[in-house]
Amino acid sequence: MLYNNSKIALVDCNSFYVSCEKLFNPSINKKPVVVLSSNDGCVISRSTEAKNLGIKMGEPYFKVKKIVKENDVKIFSTNFSLYGDISRRVMKTLKQFSPKMEIYSIDEAFLDLSSIKNEDLLEHSYKIKKTVLKWTGIPTSIGIGTTKTLSKAANYIAKKEKSGVIDLVNSKEIDKFLSKIKINDVWGVGKQLTKFYIKNGINTAYDLKKIHNNWIKKNTNVFGSRTAMELRGFPCVSLEPYEEKRKNCCVSRSFGKKVTRLEDLSEAITTHCLNAAEKIRLDNQTAKKITVFIRTSPFQIKKNYYGNSKDIDLPIRTNDSIVLIKQALAVLKNIYKKGYQYQKAGIVLSGLKDFDIYNENLFSTINNDKKRIKLMQAIDCANIKYGRNTLSIAQARLKKKWNIKRQYSSKIDTASFELLPTVRVL
Ligand SMILES: [Mg+2]
Repeated sequence: MLYNNSKIALVDCNSFYVSCEKLFNPSINKKPVVVLSSNDGCVISRSTEAKNLGIKMGEPYFKVKKIVKENDVKIFSTNFSLYGDISRRVMKTLKQFSPKMEIYSIDEAFLDLSSIKNEDLLEHSYKIKKTVLKWTGIPTSIGIGTTKTLSKAANYIAKKEKSGVIDLVNSKEIDKFLSKIKINDVWGVGKQLTKFYIKNGINTAYDLKKIHNNWIKKNTNVFGSRTAMELRGFPCVSLEPYEEKRKNCCVSRSFGKKVTRLEDLSEAITTHCLNAAEKIRLDNQTAKKITVFIRTSPFQIKKNYYGNSKDIDLPIRTNDSIVLIKQALAVLKNIYKKGYQYQKAGIVLSGLKDFDIYNENLFSTINNDKKRIKLMQAIDCANIKYGRNTLSIAQARLKKKWNIKRQYSSKIDTASFELLPTVRVL
């Protein structure tokens, strides 16, 4: 429960993906850098220098190629295993500063700072910022407010300030700050609502704060009034410190080049099963159902489009990679059709529940199950300790011809000894 004297900080990593790449490549520190989305499609992270060149967020790569060439912009393909690893380090560091924290996204977290005295809030926030930078190398911005929406607003302003920290709890100028935030940049205000608000003369966060409650209630939905209330300092969205476990787990990828053969599709499905199984094992969950899907490019609807998916209920719930792969490959064989150029394949594990060995298999001995559990644990441990894919299944093969396009990947793997930077003492 939130109460009126709650103090919430939103800590957000600055240009997170770019910052991760810079960590391992100091030579690009002051250079314009961008990270591209999957299959090198669009710009999804930009360094300040790249922003200053006019490169927009979400812009397709081909549109900025000219600027990139003329200004020697450094380009990176996404390396999500690196970003995930750095994110975990940042979150672990943040956790030291508050007993109550909600991880909001890969690079953002809400921290409950209600136990900190008002006069110490700023200093405490600078300490958080400094520690995260020192321990992980990632720069952050921090916004503090009495509600989540206000802390988001404070963070929005902090991003533009040199200090990188804005405290709206002690500020006497909240309204001045809020009038600088455009309505579409207010947390919880989507595209449709933005259009509606602008039509009605509500252009900034301050305008929304000032609008009469009856008008909001009559003209928008519960989310609309919630945001307005939060801007006024009445908490309506509580902090959710516990991560809810996932209900299903989907792993899919577009291929770097079109795939036609069943063997290559099998390889991709096997790899996806391995990843998904590892994920649910880490959460101590088991699956009841597996869905396999494949499709050609949707732009080929007129000529030769094919897409299909099929799911099967597993006889016994499991998180065993070998069992899941066997089932998935049987489904794949069933839906595969020769003569098509496939662009995407994936699997979904669903009906996820916490693992409980005694509710498991009536038909095999617990001893047998225990052996398999140990094998899976050994695989997971080896892969965490010695790097991804140290132990895999032969069907997944090592050279994945179908893999996504990552032409500009830094290929940094924080779990690989070979890739540790070397320091030479002269
Ligand atoms: Mg960020």
